[in-house]
Amino acid sequence: EFTQEFYIDNENDMVAFGERIGRSLRAQPKSQCVFLNGDLGAGKTTLSRGILRAFGHTGAVKSPTYTLVEIYEFAERRVYHFDLYRLGDPEELEYMGIRDYFSDGSICLMEWPERGKGILPESDLLIDVSVQGAGRKIQLKAKTNFALA
Ligand code: ADP
Ligand code: MG
Repeated sequence: EFTQEFYIDNENDMVAFGERIGRSLRAQPKSQCVFLNGDLGAGKTTLSRGILRAFGHTGAVKSPTYTLVEIYEFAERRVYHFDLYRLGDPEELEYMGIRDYFSDGSICLMEWPERGKGILPESDLLIDVSVQGAGRKIQLKAKTNFALA
């Protein structure tokens, strides 16, 4: 496993850093499953906003807490932004046909992936976000080296 660590000290740089991750994901032809781990307020949604920006989404990113998933359609592929914080039981993911989301070159961004343990596939990229001082520590973990754009 390859781990890379970064320190990002403000929200704007967080979005810009997410955009770099997004560009790297965009360069991958196959579906990518990205887990975003970290406490409430760590910066997972902020990072997701940057990732979505790399695909061409410049607007706001609402937290899909109640709907579990928000769909972003781009010309060449879809990005699904999940927030499983309110998921009661991992089985609910089976009912929503979770497997279908990991196809057609889709990108799945998953906040609170541990709530879907046992049902979710393994991640291609694991992002750990934690508060450190006034900023955030980010760890990127992947089986093969994840080259940032
Ligand atoms: P989460 O989705 O993990 O609950 P959010 O993305 O909603 O967290 O971010 C929570 C807060 O953290 C926001 O107010 C955001 O501005 C702030 N924030 C995000 N990234 C950073 C950073 N690198 N440094 C300082 N504040 C940040
Ligand atoms: Mg969030």
